[in-house]
Amino acid sequence: MTLVGETTVVRARVALGGTVQGVGFRPFVYRLAKELELAGWVSNSSSGLVVEVEGPPERVDRFLERLEAEMPTAAVVLTRETSQLAPAGFRGFEIRPSDENAATIAGVLPDLATCPECLAEIYDPSDRRSGYAFTNCTLCGPRYTIIEDIPYDRPRTTMRGFAMCPECQREYTDPADRRFHAQPIACPRCGPKLWTETPGDPIEQAARVIQTGGIVAMKGIGGFQLLVDARQPDAVARLRQRKRREEKPLALMMASLEMGREYCHVTTAEERLLTSRAAPIVLLRPNGKPGIAANVAGSSPYLGVMLPYSPLHHLLMRECPFPIVATSGNLSDEPMATSNEEARTRLGEIADLFVMHDRPIARPCDDSVARVVRGRESVMRRARGFAPLPVFVGRDLPAVLAVGGHLKNTVAIAVGQQVFLSQHVGDLDTPEARNAFERAIEDLCRLYRFEPQMVACDLHPDYASTRWALKSGLPVVEIQHHQAHAAACAAENGINGRYLGVAWDGTGYGTDGLIWGGEFFLADGAQFERIAHLRPFRLPGGDAAVKQGWRSAASVQLAALGPDAVPDRPERSVVLQMIGRGINAPWTTSAGRLFDAVASMAGVAHESHFEGQAAMLLERQIGELASDDCYPLREGDWGPLIEAVHRDVGRGEAVARIAARFHNALANWIVSVAEHAGERRVALSGGVFQNGYLVERTAALLEARGFQVYTHQRVPPNDGGIALGQAVIAALRG
Ligand code: ZN
Ligand code: ZN
Ligand code: FE
Repeated sequence: MTLVGETTVVRARVALGGTVQGVGFRPFVYRLAKELELAGWVSNSSSGLVVEVEGPPERVDRFLERLEAEMPTAAVVLTRETSQLAPAGFRGFEIRPSDENAATIAGVLPDLATCPECLAEIYDPSDRRSGYAFTNCTLCGPRYTIIEDIPYDRPRTTMRGFAMCPECQREYTDPADRRFHAQPIACPRCGPKLWTETPGDPIEQAARVIQTGGIVAMKGIGGFQLLVDARQPDAVARLRQRKRREEKPLALMMASLEMGREYCHVTTAEERLLTSRAAPIVLLRPNGKPGIAANVAGSSPYLGVMLPYSPLHHLLMRECPFPIVATSGNLSDEPMATSNEEARTRLGEIADLFVMHDRPIARPCDDSVARVVRGRESVMRRARGFAPLPVFVGRDLPAVLAVGGHLKNTVAIAVGQQVFLSQHVGDLDTPEARNAFERAIEDLCRLYRFEPQMVACDLHPDYASTRWALKSGLPVVEIQHHQAHAAACAAENGINGRYLGVAWDGTGYGTDGLIWGGEFFLADGAQFERIAHLRPFRLPGGDAAVKQGWRSAASVQLAALGPDAVPDRPERSVVLQMIGRGINAPWTTSAGRLFDAVASMAGVAHESHFEGQAAMLLERQIGELASDDCYPLREGDWGPLIEAVHRDVGRGEAVARIAARFHNALANWIVSVAEHAGERRVALSGGVFQNGYLVERTAALLEARGFQVYTHQRVPPNDGGIALGQAVIAALRG
């Protein structure tokens, strides 16, 4: 928010997809904005309609409500993403010409959760689609995961092998029918079929296997999922062991919102997210009710909950009136299996039963993960339900292909004023993942008829994505990792001009060749001045320290307290030597590694089985504790902080207090840097800001001092968002 004269002004942007063009939507928006005396603009885009309004917060809220309630009757809104943006100082309201650069692109919609009408049909015993797992209409069903090429028409989808029966044909060609031109239209007579390799009803069998503690592999919308009963710790443990996912939190599917409320606190904003057409996994606070096995959430302070989003899921959950674990059908961090053959080979050792069907999946698309941060939706993993919706950046960009980072990879293309982000690809450690990465690039380029003029990549020379970029034969722009984080946050929040970018994460290659991760930039477009960072410390063993947080602890303990403070461990002396001699112990300014160090000192975690685990555990320790106590962290010097942690641990202080004091110290340091920097706008980005406590606290402290705080909404704060930042910076530099 910003003060203009005496009044507070906010700017909101709404991107609507569906049937929103040629139905009188723009004049309606214009009249509504004029009536409420809001400034801004409305424009058609390739993927729908974009509206921005600016004015007092109450009137902007009223606009957003009435936009929904009073829209033209012929309009069908299938996707809607709202963002709060930095105010732009608009005067008046205008209908802007359509985005010409993007005019040739056919809008490809994401996969949409089953609509109420279709749901009623599958539950109606007299309906011809009763119990049919592939029921859909123009308002719901698969889109992005079935489209092979544009324009979006049945012969160019994976439904092309299914000839419509006369009844489906009639619905498809009747303009008055709900299924008029519904490309994935199907019925039990002519559409995809469900089966298992053993005789009997597939859904009943699946429910029985789940109830008796077995593992079901089920082909869903964007790939195979693995399902087990979430109430049975042994079943969950078996899934973890077979899938080689020892520690990462697992997501839950619950039959209904009511069931979600049984186990979790659900706010209005969270309810909206759960029941949205995107139907992502939503991170919710558990309410303490027993019943869900402890090894489902693992280290996480949250439960990841989603509601059924396809008829198949609805039918299964009707037979499973209890929470089930629903996780990607893959081994460890590989991409999900999408074809029946692939599933049999790759998941054969994991699943006790396969539920398969014959509708091919054009591209893998994991379940998305989102949460509510500062009262707003924030996407942590952008895939099913969101991909491939573009992010509007408000200025024309040249044709840049951005290849993202190494972990949680996504790729992006800049077309006109829009950046199209791929679905979450994953960590590029395996050949399978690198294949998926190359396919995602080909896919985006083909679907959008896109010919890149340059490639943006990370500065890290060893990232698989960087190596791909350097071999592409195109001009390459290398972008520093944390600058890309900050730019992504600025871009999606519509920040123009100067801002303070706070980019904190586990690891990123710095312009000085060192490992960065606790960075502050005074930024303006593609200009970045690094004005502050965490005091560097050595990372004994390099990558080994990422997995073994006690190594980071040893490093800061040695520096701040001397060798006697470093606890005894099998590799202690080797590690101390590495630090002392500076051999295989690169310098780092990583905030993520400082989290690891404090987590280890507090006895919370000495190792991490996945990136960020120790930090997650430390955050979880705070629980409901409300405390303003804090450790010293002046100018990012962690020395006194480490001494204080050491003292607290020595006198048996509660871990919750240690965790809170540490988080509070980080928040206070950000505030003090912001005060020195003298920029009112502060953007928080990087994987560390997935930490709910840290984000909420930092934002609250900054706002109380009059700063405007920007956090991620539509792209992830983690490395899943950096392709957007790369595209924007490359466009400005190139
Ligand atoms: Zn429907
Ligand atoms: Zn049919
Ligand atoms: Fe990062």
